[in-house]
Formats: sequence, C-alpha cells, structure tokens
Amino acid sequence: MFLIKGTIKTVSSFTIGTDGYFIDVQFNELGLTPSALKGAMRTSISWAIRNGMVRGTSCDEIEPSRIAKVHQGKPCDVCSLFGYPDHEGKLRVYSGPNKDGKMKPKTHVITHVNINDETGTAKKTALFKQEVVPPEEEFPFTVQVVGGEEELCLALASLHYLRFLRLGRGGMVDVNVDKVIKDGKEIDAQKIPLELKWVW
Ligand SMILES: [Zn+2]
Repeated sequence: MFLIKGTIKTVSSFTIGTDGYFIDVQFNELGLTPSALKGAMRTSISWAIRNGMVRGTSCDEIEPSRIAKVHQGKPCDVCSLFGYPDHEGKLRVYSGPNKDGKMKPKTHVITHVNINDETGTAKKTALFKQEVVPPEEEFPFTVQVVGGEEELCLALASLHYLRFLRLGRGGMVDVNVDKVIKDGKEIDAQKIPLELKWVW
C-alpha cells in the first residue's frame, strides 16, 4: 500500500460549485472535495492514456450501464484503479484542511455580465455573481493506493496530468507531490519519470 502526500495549488482563479441564492456560482463549503479531486484524476489519466502519453487501458466509458459491456469481463486499468459500479477500486482520496485549518479557502466574488450575442450589449437581468478562489491557494491531499508499483505510477501520472486540464469551471492547478510512503516508510520516487514537484 502506498500513500501519496501532496499539495494542489490554484494557478488561475478557480471555481467549483453549485448555484446559490445570493451568489450564483458558489464555491463548495468543503473546498476541493475528495470526490471532486478523484473525479479530476480519473479524467486526467483517461485523457493521458487516450493521447498516448501514459501506457495503459482506458474504456473512456462514463455511462454505468455500459461499463461492464465495454470491459467484456476484464476492467480497464483506469476502472480497476478508480473503481466502477459495484467495484470499489484501489485508490482513495482524502483532502484535508488548508494551512489555516479551514476547509473552505478564501474566495472573491466577481460579477459578470452576460452579453447578448446578437446585439453585443449587456442583457438586462443578466448580471451574475461568481465566487472564485484566487491563485496561489493551496489544498493538501493524500491519495491511498492499494496495489503495486504499476498502480502507484498510474496514480502519480493522474496527478501529474492534472496540470494540463481545467478543474471545476475552468481553473488551472499545479501539483506538488511532497512524499510517497510505502508501508509506513518514505520512498524515493525520483526514478519515476514524471515531474512531481511544482511546475507552473
Ligand atoms: Zn473501464
């Protein structure tokens, strides 16, 4: 079993959220939730495999009823790591409070104007507010991988390629892997050919 401990940092303004009452696009109270991070990692590794950047198999199927059919008895590497209906997977994600001990990061509220495409003017009633996390906010996380080196590499690659995707509603992030722990002991992850420290 491996534990990957690291930090995600916002590079651009970053929004995840649902529509609220006063603020139209609200940041989730829990900050970067484990399920949001896990979903993003899954998207990231599927993308990297599909584009030939990581060796492995990905069914790219998101419709639960079709997953068993495309697997034809053998789950793809992405599903066996991240899980699929009735199968738990080998990876768990935990995200902790930030360095101020808070789950919800500091946010700014910005007001947008919807522009009418035809006339090029602002629509009446089209002001909306959006809550965003500013750049340079950090979110600590832990990823637990129950498996061998192959699973560890896929998990690290899914974190690595998060930098090239957009999280939430268009935010860019950077990732730093602080340490990798195997059976309670920190291991040297340098031989893994991935950039594990801050990039942007
Ligand atoms: Zn699959």
